[in-house]
Amino acid sequence: MTSPDTGLEADDALRVLNRVFGYQSFREGQQEIIDHVVAGHDALVLMPTGAGKSLCYQIPALVRKGVGVVVSPLIALMQDQVHALTALGVRAGFLNSTQDLDERRQVESAFLAGELDLLYLAPERLRVDSTLRLLDRGAISLFAIDEAHCVAQWGHDFRPDYLALSMLHERWPTVPRIALTATATEATHAEIASRLNLQEARHFVASFDRPNIQYRIAPKSEPRRQLLNLLRTEHPGDAGIVYCLSRASVDKTAEFLVESGVQALPYHAGLDARTRAANQSRFLREDGIVMVATIAFGMGIDKPDVRFVVHLDLPKSVEGYYQETGRAGRDGLPSTAWLAYGLQDVVQQRKMIDTSEGDDAHRRRLGSHLDAMLALCETVECRRVRLLAYFGQKSDACGNCDTCLVPPESWDGTIAAQKLLSAVVRLQRERRQKFGAGQIIDILLGKQTPKVIQHGHDSLTVFGIGTELSDTEWRGVVRQLLAQGFLGVEGDYGTLVLTEASAEVLSRSREVLMRREPERPARAAKTRRAPASADLPEEAMPVFERLRAWRAATAKEQGVPAYVIFHDATLREIATGSPSSLAELGEVSGVGENKLAKYGQQILDTLTA
Ligand code: ADP
Ligand code: ZN
Repeated sequence: MTSPDTGLEADDALRVLNRVFGYQSFREGQQEIIDHVVAGHDALVLMPTGAGKSLCYQIPALVRKGVGVVVSPLIALMQDQVHALTALGVRAGFLNSTQDLDERRQVESAFLAGELDLLYLAPERLRVDSTLRLLDRGAISLFAIDEAHCVAQWGHDFRPDYLALSMLHERWPTVPRIALTATATEATHAEIASRLNLQEARHFVASFDRPNIQYRIAPKSEPRRQLLNLLRTEHPGDAGIVYCLSRASVDKTAEFLVESGVQALPYHAGLDARTRAANQSRFLREDGIVMVATIAFGMGIDKPDVRFVVHLDLPKSVEGYYQETGRAGRDGLPSTAWLAYGLQDVVQQRKMIDTSEGDDAHRRRLGSHLDAMLALCETVECRRVRLLAYFGQKSDACGNCDTCLVPPESWDGTIAAQKLLSAVVRLQRERRQKFGAGQIIDILLGKQTPKVIQHGHDSLTVFGIGTELSDTEWRGVVRQLLAQGFLGVEGDYGTLVLTEASAEVLSRSREVLMRREPERPARAAKTRRAPASADLPEEAMPVFERLRAWRAATAKEQGVPAYVIFHDATLREIATGSPSSLAELGEVSGVGENKLAKYGQQILDTLTA
């Protein structure tokens, strides 16, 4: 691609979209952002994962004169990003710590010779004087600051090197800057704007809805069994991510899945760098791998066909949860976000907050993140309405989450709440004792367990007053009281304690509404269309499979992920449309000029084989 030296045409951006990327039209928001940056202005872009942020800086970089410099924290993925661009005929390179001197020199001289359209940089490179001097000697079309939320100090992905990026504006005041992120609470938004000196920039805030992702949150009973059931009934052979809180549970879960015949791999910071890189690379390159990981995994993974994201432990914040689940279904096809959560999660997280480093303000902040997450779990409303409200966006019930599909009943849990709180009060006042949920529920159910007898708890007046509910239902009551702040939890054993708000319930001045879990939890039966080939017309199936086989072989030969060659969506369109000439093939979304020239004939041959 060469950029015109003078006078930018209004339709340049559209031409690049058609010819280079092979897409017919812009998605919502893209055109405005691109025009704004092409005209030399700063932009702050908040768009959900999968909405198409990359084009918002890639196209201006191609249209404007000079090299677009992209700051990205994703060192391990730069190679793939550059491959994907090269496959489109875009001249791209990167500079980071994984390269040897020779490779670096090559990229540097390409940059100086004006032979690059895009240069990817790790943020720490910009602290090095020689990099700054290098940039001074070339022509820069724009700075793109990807994953801009990394500058937010209290955020979940903070990178100290990002703080230095405010100097870009001082050093190169005439070069437009575009900062992009998929994380967007009001607080993060404001912090990005101020730390990157983007107050003057135009802010583009897209809708954060991801309608193709089905949100479901289920009570946790036997998490691994529940997971396996989900994979077998709804996502056989699909690629997905399973998040666990600890390294140990990552290892155990991955092992369990492998023993159950699922192609699963572990990923966490305790594995050596080589294993991590190898597992990540298999996840990206092979079809149908399930990655079991801590949240160390996933930022910048732009694999388009991740069909599900599972959380086996409660996430620490709604912001993190939305970001992680957003990694499902970038290709727009139906996908599942499934979270299992139980009482133990609440106990564990409260404990982690109590013992966390930092001052009280920090702990309060963590506490309010957790409260928002709990409220999402226990809501009887549409999950999506809640999620979007968290990001300050209004919406209507979505029809594609568990509470919309199978509405849970709400019930008046005031009496149950009083019984439970009374048991806590009796233990505390009469015996000066504190216990966890298990013992308190046994007391309410009137169970003569050894521990009940040992402590003489069968002589308490509350003994056996709660037999109308089951053990599981009582656990639900405890969870919801915790979520609503009527009960607290402390210490290593998760002992239950009263809060200031408990009194309101005990004195009957407060009603407590609770969520009753539906007998039959929501399943995606209606909307399920998981595997990439599902709902293709019968006659297109063998063609699609042949195309996938061709793509797998080609990707392997080139050592790149399959989606760098073509996305599933593109192969589907080819399989159903059966183009019979290069010209017809060129009309398919995702087939740009470079790919048409390179693969066009092979595709036509595969179609007629
Ligand atoms: P984000 O960075 O916002 O998560 P990406 O830039 O990775 O999203 O884009 C998500 C997917 O959508 C990519 O596969 C991209 O090629 C595709 N895409 C982006 N813009 C368009 C468009 N205008 N038409 C068709 N596909 C698009
Ligand atoms: Zn809904």
